[in-house]
Amino acid sequence: MPKAKGRNAFFFFMIDWKKRAEARGCTFPNGLKDVQADPDCNEEWQNLTKQERGPYEAQAKKDKITSQINANSKKTTHGECIQLLEQKEIEEQKFIEDMYEYLESTITRAVNHNVLPQLKFCFVHVNWFFTKLVDNVVEYFPAEYAVGVFSLENGIEDIHHTIVGVPIPLGYRREALETSQSTHNIPIECPGEESDFAIMYEKLTNFLKPRKIVDKYPPLYTTKSLKGAVQSLLATLCKAANQDEEQFLVYEIESLFKHLADEAYKKREDREIKYTKAYAEYTFTRFTHIYKRGNECIFHKYTDGGSEYCSKSVLHQWTWNMCEEFCNPLQVEMKSGVHYPEEADCSYKGMMQSMANLDIKREVSQQHRIRVSERSYEDEMRRRKESKPVLVIDYSKTKEASTTAKFTADSDESVDKAIDEPVSKPTDEPEQKSVPNYIFGKPMRPPNTVSYVAATMDDYLPKNDEKNFPPIGGRGVLYRKIKEKSRKAPMGRGQGHA
Ligand SMILES: [Zn+2]
Repeated sequence: MPKAKGRNAFFFFMIDWKKRAEARGCTFPNGLKDVQADPDCNEEWQNLTKQERGPYEAQAKKDKITSQINANSKKTTHGECIQLLEQKEIEEQKFIEDMYEYLESTITRAVNHNVLPQLKFCFVHVNWFFTKLVDNVVEYFPAEYAVGVFSLENGIEDIHHTIVGVPIPLGYRREALETSQSTHNIPIECPGEESDFAIMYEKLTNFLKPRKIVDKYPPLYTTKSLKGAVQSLLATLCKAANQDEEQFLVYEIESLFKHLADEAYKKREDREIKYTKAYAEYTFTRFTHIYKRGNECIFHKYTDGGSEYCSKSVLHQWTWNMCEEFCNPLQVEMKSGVHYPEEADCSYKGMMQSMANLDIKREVSQQHRIRVSERSYEDEMRRRKESKPVLVIDYSKTKEASTTAKFTADSDESVDKAIDEPVSKPTDEPEQKSVPNYIFGKPMRPPNTVSYVAATMDDYLPKNDEKNFPPIGGRGVLYRKIKEKSRKAPMGRGQGHA
């Protein structure tokens, strides 16, 4: 944790003095270090009166308090300020709420005017060359992007597509090449492609301008996993054109799907709608149409695996996902090549049918329990029957009773009785409690632990028979043994030959 260290009055005096000295034409190449070493500065400080030092001391006091506040604020193990993190979380929550509100109001308005199939949404997909971490945010260097205007009636109506030919910054070429080779195959610094982010910004905004809603660009929809990449792309373009990136909103296509589903199936009360969010996320990771060719950009048309990665192709895949799901419930006639890929049958079952197979219940089913525990119902019941009630033994009161053989707890009669009846609450009368008879039959076993003497005595083990098995010396002979050897062997029977 950083130490709470306030700067002293002399520090603030030095800053002040430096300013004045620099105004006179002095230079301090090492900053405050030079100022500190300057004899003139020190002399002036020494000659200051108490009143003159006052303002600097006040500044130091204020600085000390602020630095203490900063140092005492709670931090995570990574050293991030928890207060800031919480603030960020609240902002994100707010963003999601705003998004839901926007979607709900937009869709409801369209339904009220009966224009939901004509309602337009902008989809955006981006491929990148490399990523780098700047201020805890991942920045993506774009390789290709596509913005498409989608409606349920016409599928993708219009598309704006760009391959980025901007030079790769020093140090990122290798990563760019590797990313390209393992995914989209777009060559780095492609000649003849767009090489200026500012121009790209211009073209993108020109494409989006006719779709503006009351002076605001429409929200751009992309998948949850690509949100960061799209935001990074927009930030890059805006930065190059000196424009505010806040003018663009990036929303999740999954949320759009969810809200459309809530609208399309709102009259279906036979299904639980609350799983639509999960289903929406599943839809965009299913990649049903990933290998459908014919909608790639010019570059990807002649590239192996182009349909998987091409931004243009991906937008069409999203479109088909949407149309397959919502065209039928919203009474939009499905056309081949628009609402579903050419040469494909539109036999998609749709969410309601797919979800019908998902019999989700809140409690754990019997089959699941058996599969997990491999214990049958009969087994379970047997085990329950076998269990004995808890026996409460009060030895202080059973001393006399034990001799009278009153306690026959494990006789069949009493066991049966115990199972049939709930365990009675302990009472003061010892005669009513049962004590198993082995308590009186078996002797106590010795303790399992090593005795205290054995554990603490050093020479507890029997002495080595050094007469018959003398130590051979050298390494491995304990010091103690050598010492013992020097002792005179005791004279006794069988040893008395001098
Ligand atoms: Zn492409």
